[in-house]
Amino acid sequence: MNNIQIGILGYGNLGRGVELAISQQPDMELTAIFTRRNPAEIQPSLSGVPIYNVKDVLNFKNSIDVMILCGGSSTDLDSQSPAFASHFNIVDSFDTHPEIPRHFKSVNTSALLTNHTAIVSAGWDPGLFSINRLLAESILPLGHSYTFWGKGVSQGHSDALRRIEGVANAIQYTIPLESAMEAVRRGDGPAFTPRQMHTRECYVALLPDADPDTVRDQIVHMPSYFADYDTTVHFVSQEELQENHYAMPHGGFIQRSGTTGSDQENCHIYEFSLKLDSNPQFTANVLACYARSAYRLAAEGSYGAKTVLEIPPAYLSSRSIEQLRAEIL
Ligand code: NDP
Repeated sequence: MNNIQIGILGYGNLGRGVELAISQQPDMELTAIFTRRNPAEIQPSLSGVPIYNVKDVLNFKNSIDVMILCGGSSTDLDSQSPAFASHFNIVDSFDTHPEIPRHFKSVNTSALLTNHTAIVSAGWDPGLFSINRLLAESILPLGHSYTFWGKGVSQGHSDALRRIEGVANAIQYTIPLESAMEAVRRGDGPAFTPRQMHTRECYVALLPDADPDTVRDQIVHMPSYFADYDTTVHFVSQEELQENHYAMPHGGFIQRSGTTGSDQENCHIYEFSLKLDSNPQFTANVLACYARSAYRLAAEGSYGAKTVLEIPPAYLSSRSIEQLRAEIL
């Protein structure tokens, strides 16, 4: 059988992660990488696979089985996903949760018109966390669900810090409170405020004339981002920021406590967790598996947009269903 030919659109953190992810998959091959920038002006690819400007992409319509879209959710995927689903089977990692139904609809329309398969919002959240929420809530209909994030870098909160006057650079970690997770594990079914679930830790490098107290005050009182949390601010040098805070760790926990029995006397705890050294590299590995499922769904004529909730798990594996029945069940 021929290898699945993969294209990458967008060569940032996630795009580089997908390049590495494809090299781990026995039945996949990276054909080409596409960028909106001038390929001559960006760092060469890690694998030596050619990087093209996106204007050349339609030349690859017949040689790429699945295009993995690695643009940002806030500015790129809204337009790129429906546009590319007209020409390719695609996978994206659109992660603006409230906007997912709208995004799904626009990609679905475009994929159905041209008989393509488009997997939207794959990754870990949305993605693996969504599957686990579905399992936990279906299996334990009487109960309480919780999502804790971290310890990890929140790009949105880090961006909010960088917009403050006097800040040269900054990074923000979201940290789940162990005491809250323990209360869920005891089956207490607690109701939490945001402050009782997570703390926020900020590492901030200041511009030369900035006043630390003024900056700290602006951070801890910033509505929507920090005011509802216990927030710690550490002032560090630019060098320390680059040296000790360049990695992109993340992760989190899905927890559900539920009860069964005639008097709800038995309590059950469902927990799924991820601890990731590199958010983009792990997300990229998930996208590679969903590219395989897009290929299989398209081959059987199952077109249109799909989310991770609608895809049989066996379609993610390079092993046959017979092997999986024998080796994993
Ligand atoms: P980046 O900012 O690194 O890249 C986004 C796009 O920006 C790239 O595709 C690239 O497009 C462009 N770009 C990258 N570097 C530069 C640069 N130096 N100068 C100009 N443009 C550049 O974002 P990430 O790769 O870290 O994340 C992409 C998305 O992944 C996130 O927005 C998020 O939506 C999603 N994500 C989803 C997760 C999930 O669980 N579902 C988890 C983690 C991330 P081009 O090459 O065309 O210029």
